[in-house]
Amino acid sequence: MTAKILDGKKMSAEIRASIKEKVLLLKEKGIVPGLAVILVGDNPASKVYVGQKEKGCLEAGFASFLHRLPGTTSQEELLALIDKLNADKTVHGILVQLPLPRQIDPDTVLAAIRPEKDVDGFHPVNIGRLVAGLPASEPCTPKGILRLLKSTGIPLSGKEAVVIGRSNIVGKPVALMLLAESATVTICHSKTADLAEHARRADILVAAIGKPRFVTADMVKEGAVVIDVGINRLEEGLVGDVDYEPVAEKASWITPVPGGVGPMTIAMLLENTLEQAEKAGASGR
Ligand code: NAD
Repeated sequence: MTAKILDGKKMSAEIRASIKEKVLLLKEKGIVPGLAVILVGDNPASKVYVGQKEKGCLEAGFASFLHRLPGTTSQEELLALIDKLNADKTVHGILVQLPLPRQIDPDTVLAAIRPEKDVDGFHPVNIGRLVAGLPASEPCTPKGILRLLKSTGIPLSGKEAVVIGRSNIVGKPVALMLLAESATVTICHSKTADLAEHARRADILVAAIGKPRFVTADMVKEGAVVIDVGINRLEEGLVGDVDYEPVAEKASWITPVPGGVGPMTIAMLLENTLEQAEKAGASGR
């Protein structure tokens, strides 16, 4: 079998075009979706991500409020800015780019964002709602993964899903979302014994590890849907966590890197922000 490509770049462009149209309608009601992005320090990868988010905002017709703070910023200073943005009615989403410098505790900072403005879906309230199966602001990368999976038309209910990676931003939430779709979910991680054995059972295999070409063809069941979340910067360029060519020979669907999960993350961030702007408009918040 040769896999069909799950084209995240194309899907992301379609979603963003539809968001742009919705923004025009909202603007007629006097509402401009606003996203505040806070970047502390000068981590090169973070700068790239923040630049992409700002560009995405502007293209969609959002107001983009970029706050660049020096690496020496104290936790109190960052919390004071978040307080201000929490109260600002023109700001519908607040995103603090991670990682933060050592003097700042990310958990304290993420918990300080009003849950309604937590468009990254990292606030404990939103995570709790996700666990309980309640409507929540869903984390962007996992939300994008589910959108890609659903686009295959393959029912997720009853499927064996194996997620490799248990981070709070990808592995755990994507596992919860697959569970909410009634898949049978296994989470594998760095301490899992016989990882390949688990992976080979998967109808849906999600790799979110951060190790180039970790998932090899012998770990993949014939016909599996393979989602590669990994972004590994090597000299040869960007490489995923999946050994793409040999795995694509066995899978039914596969996401490329780049052009798979990555572009969906920004589309979902814009979608979460738009939803909050619509809700704020409806409630007069
Ligand atoms: P992380 O470092 O927080 O977590 C990695 C996970 O992989 C851990 O849970 C760990 O247990 C597991 N792991 C590590 N080594 C392993 C091994 N040898 N065997 C099995 N499991 C192992 O990373 P993260 O933030 O979840 O990101 C994972 C990857 O996804 C990275 O490459 C990151 O750049 C990428 N990423 C992409 C997007 C996107 O938009 N496409 C978003 C977030 C993260």
